[in-house]
Amino acid sequence: MTASPSAPWRATVLTLFPEMFPGPLGVSLAGRALTSGIWALEARDIRASATDKHRSVDDTPAGGGPGMVLRADVLAAAIDAADIAPERPRLLMSPRGRPLTQTFVRELAAGPGPLVVCGRFEGVDQRVIDARALIEVSIGDYVLSGGEIAALVLIDACVRLLPGVMGKLESGTDESFSDGLLEYPQYTRPQLFEGRSIPDVLTSGDHAKVAAWRRAQSEALTEGRRADLWAEWRARQDREQTRTSQKAPKSTTDG
Ligand code: SAH
Repeated sequence: MTASPSAPWRATVLTLFPEMFPGPLGVSLAGRALTSGIWALEARDIRASATDKHRSVDDTPAGGGPGMVLRADVLAAAIDAADIAPERPRLLMSPRGRPLTQTFVRELAAGPGPLVVCGRFEGVDQRVIDARALIEVSIGDYVLSGGEIAALVLIDACVRLLPGVMGKLESGTDESFSDGLLEYPQYTRPQLFEGRSIPDVLTSGDHAKVAAWRRAQSEALTEGRRADLWAEWRARQDREQTRTSQKAPKSTTDG
């Protein structure tokens, strides 16, 4: 699914704190891209859909327990009022959700842009999640006080992948997770810092050697720091090797 060139990638955020947007997304890369119309942001106040005289959006949990729960009727009304095109994904930020990975971010960035619902308090009435088919998305195994910061994280990760946002096209393809490995160490001037110099290979001008050094560093870092990513990467390498050898079973020379 790709957004039509006339409609920029769009994030519609439902929140009790619309003043938190664009927040950090209003500066630097994302902010410039927002101003230039590469993407659009709409933060909508859930409370505007409250109907009682106290404008209440939450109530105590059925079955007892601490805290408050966002009401299904109010949130459903807010979602309906946002009038989201059916092809746009409807997400709910939630620690129980599908982990936000670079692969997932790439999927979202390639689409028309999501509706993002931000929970608060103890969370959201399950019936609105079911009735509006919300996809729960988690930014990590820890609990935040609300979905807003998680939504900012998700949107930031998507926006930097939109065409025209990053200076160089490559800066999005040669970094951590883009090929399943963590990024190699980076250096810049000065050549000598507190007695530490930039590795010689990086100033050698030998592009093949630089690439080989970076690859080796990426592999060593991933193996040392992230057993999970390393195992996945190794498995993928094995599969690719099997596929290549099946395609050309008699080839013994490397071309
Ligand atoms: N009681 C809930 C947590 C509620 S935290 C539970 O144990 O699952 C309040 C809100 O913060 C959530 O509704 C969600 O929108 C947001 N939130 C908290 N942690 C998050 C995370 N790791 N990823 C995405 N959203 C999160």
